[in-house]
Amino acid sequence: MSVTRATMAPGAIVRTQFDTAADLAQLDSAQRRLLGGPFRSVTVDVPVRMDDGRIEVFRGYRIQHSGARGPCKGGIRFHPEADQEEVLGLATTMTWKTALADVPFGGAKGGVQVDPRALSQRELEALTRTFTGRISLLLGPYRDVPAPDMGTNQQVMAWLLDEYSKRNGYTPAVVTGKPIALGGSLGREEATAQGVVYVMEAYAADEGLLIRDSRVVIQGFGNVGAQTARILHEHGARVIAVTDVDGGLHNDKGLDIPNLFDHGYRKRRPVAEFPGGDRITNEALWRIPCDWLIPAALGGVISKDRNLDDIDCRVVVEAANAPTTPIADKELESRGVPVLPDFLVNAGGVIVSYFEWVQNLQQHPWTFEEVNEELHRKITHAYRTVRELRKQSKVSWRTAAYAIALQRVAEAERLRGH
Ligand code: NAD
Repeated sequence: MSVTRATMAPGAIVRTQFDTAADLAQLDSAQRRLLGGPFRSVTVDVPVRMDDGRIEVFRGYRIQHSGARGPCKGGIRFHPEADQEEVLGLATTMTWKTALADVPFGGAKGGVQVDPRALSQRELEALTRTFTGRISLLLGPYRDVPAPDMGTNQQVMAWLLDEYSKRNGYTPAVVTGKPIALGGSLGREEATAQGVVYVMEAYAADEGLLIRDSRVVIQGFGNVGAQTARILHEHGARVIAVTDVDGGLHNDKGLDIPNLFDHGYRKRRPVAEFPGGDRITNEALWRIPCDWLIPAALGGVISKDRNLDDIDCRVVVEAANAPTTPIADKELESRGVPVLPDFLVNAGGVIVSYFEWVQNLQQHPWTFEEVNEELHRKITHAYRTVRELRKQSKVSWRTAAYAIALQRVAEAERLRGH
């Protein structure tokens, strides 16, 4: 697996962004300590008996950043680079994301340092069950509710639900992003991508841009990248380049997204093996001129020393978490390239996770249309709130989004007496 290491770790990116926003919001030192660090951070060893009989031990984390506004909420990532700093950064971002989207959750994240592609299905299940067992004391519908993230999926959430339910009785509301048959929500699989597209549509309408015929470049062809490509293609956009961990494809006329979706997302085959485009490396992706540049894989991938000078797009849409380093972020803004921030752009997943949780608690499923209507309403409202503040205060999209989120979390902490 050729994983490119980020030039600045996502955790450090989130820390720098927090410091900037905390200065702006004039937080005192106690508030900074409270909002800057984790509420609870747990590290576990996860022993797994491999198919060849050996025991291999993986390192796992569950970090709850804040529960001030509701149960902690955040995905579980299986990735070789998942470490404490990264997981804390992602947990922190979840707090701002749930606050900005105005769903009644706090922020958390989990991770296991593992390459899931190197495991058999049986090993993956064993890893998930042992990890769940070791963090299950922290979990619960009113404590901490995990979801899928990079390297995990509906099946992993089903094993997590089963493992938790063995101890506590059938509890669908303990995890979101489950299969529909186990209480998952219609529209959850594509929710993050659908949210990305709703934000792009709102931005395009405000800026006099069009989605139709626009050129789109996407890094990552997993849940978020592939579903975003599919929905944008259905809206008439030209998706001209995509990559996954093994490289990718470029075709200025537009890639055959429906068949690539089947090949790369459904069948999990490398994007670069699909016909109908020139093979490119992950580095070459950033040099392709486009209207919308959508990082949808790792954090820290857009940076001054790696690719900033090569980037030629109208707007960066952060579908991944923390893809842009703070220096690159500033330079893009000063070049007149807006960066629509991760915790606004990719909030669709957690918004529909909230709908899933509500449906589980009420034992009342919603239709696909109800889910998407409510998602559209909530994420567009968040977008408008950020846009208004940005206009009033003449700050970047990210700073405006942070100011709103920090203020909401600080207010909840204050009302609770902290
Ligand atoms: P996924 O595991 O389904 O897909 C990840 C994709 O990134 C795969 O195509 C993989 O091949 C590719 N990738 C991995 N390393 C790469 C590299 N070095 N270069 C290029 N591509 C690489 O993950 P996902 O759920 O689509 O998540 C993608 C990003 O979106 C992550 O940053 C995640 O935190 C964020 N996110 C996901 C959700 C969600 O609901 N899934 C919600 C919010 C944010």
